[in-house]
Amino acid sequence: MRCVYPQCDGTLSLYGLAGFCQKCGEPIHGCPKCESPNRTFANFCRACGADLAHIPSQASTVLAETVAALSRPPVKALVSEAFWLAPLSWGGYLWLLSATGQIYRYSPFSNQAVPMQALGQGFGRCAFSIHEICSRNQPPETEPWFLTANRKSVKGFALVSRQVREIVSLPDGEEVLSDSLENYVNLECDPTRVYFLTRAGPQISLTSADFLSGEVRHFPLPAQSVVGPFRCGDIVFAYSETQLYSLRQDELRAHVFPAGFRAWTLQGARDLNQMFLKPAFGRRPYILCGYSVYIPGTNAGGNAFLLQYLKGGVGGTAVIPLNEEATYSQDSAGRPIVSLSGRILTYSEASRQEVQSDPQLSPRLPSFVNGPVCAATAETAGGERIRFFADGKVVDVPVSQFPRYQECVGFYGLDLAVVMTYLTDSEHLGIASWHA
Ligand SMILES: [Zn+2]
Ligand SMILES: [Zn+2]
Repeated sequence: MRCVYPQCDGTLSLYGLAGFCQKCGEPIHGCPKCESPNRTFANFCRACGADLAHIPSQASTVLAETVAALSRPPVKALVSEAFWLAPLSWGGYLWLLSATGQIYRYSPFSNQAVPMQALGQGFGRCAFSIHEICSRNQPPETEPWFLTANRKSVKGFALVSRQVREIVSLPDGEEVLSDSLENYVNLECDPTRVYFLTRAGPQISLTSADFLSGEVRHFPLPAQSVVGPFRCGDIVFAYSETQLYSLRQDELRAHVFPAGFRAWTLQGARDLNQMFLKPAFGRRPYILCGYSVYIPGTNAGGNAFLLQYLKGGVGGTAVIPLNEEATYSQDSAGRPIVSLSGRILTYSEASRQEVQSDPQLSPRLPSFVNGPVCAATAETAGGERIRFFADGKVVDVPVSQFPRYQECVGFYGLDLAVVMTYLTDSEHLGIASWHA
């Protein structure tokens, strides 16, 4: 079948509803109604006209096609810029934001990191996110936007129309908390408003801005160091060391954490305990999974996650102690994945499940669990290896095969590909992809 991208006459490789063009390397998404191939960001099916939602790419079912590829050499790419933030997968691509504020889009099938937009000075330190936002009222139209901030402004980049919008520009005396290397801060949004943290003098506020009009509202928080915001259902949350804040329909409430629990609110190894329970590089510290959030901190002198239930509001809590060296990330279903020495665990609510056990597994780097594929770092006498577990087989790739490898950043399941990103010895980003 012929490619559906403009000016390309390549041939498509299709596996069920996922695929890619062998010539231009762009990903293809099949119509759920008639199965015709469509471009990733198509609004409507080119064959039957069905409305195609922009579905974030985490298709673990088709990842099964990739299992055979894991024993072949990966394709490799290097992006020669410094990176302080972890990439994000969306729509069959990996999205990157460099330390200089340059957005890149990477497709494993073309093996190209394409520069998309330079956001300007000061961008590249604030954790970015991609959300569907209503970017036009008449007629109503939503589009996925890449959102991030620097000290003075919040900016959006539209993934499809490629427009850039300055959503908010703050007056003198006020700044966005936009340094994710310092504090655990990021941006959140609902279909019409963007949420972020701001500071004016010593006062920190949870602040929202209307995406279309730029109208700003402040909700002062009684804390000196705050993590967030994040959204669950129709409530936006942030938290301090001892309190969870909820904002619903412009009403802010504080909920005290259980006695004895203290959430971590600062990045880095300021608290010695944090060295032993750490989020994967460049990620948010908390894990939002369905209507639960896992908040890392200390409890009764040891490390722990506070599991806070959020269904219909702020519900009960459970404390999950974790008192050995661990690195955590999220699986394709949103559940926490914890890498321990010799074991990989996932959690559903407070109960844990062992996914893999292997004495060489490292607790220092994030693992990956996605449908039929599990990946982790193994420490062997012959050096460090990326180890895949798939279909009852184990495949080892020595890290010496990755040019200038320093440290694994994370793994991504992109429809028909497994992608591993790593920091090089010069803080640049290396990418290795195994695809169907
Ligand atoms: Zn093509
Ligand atoms: Zn269709």
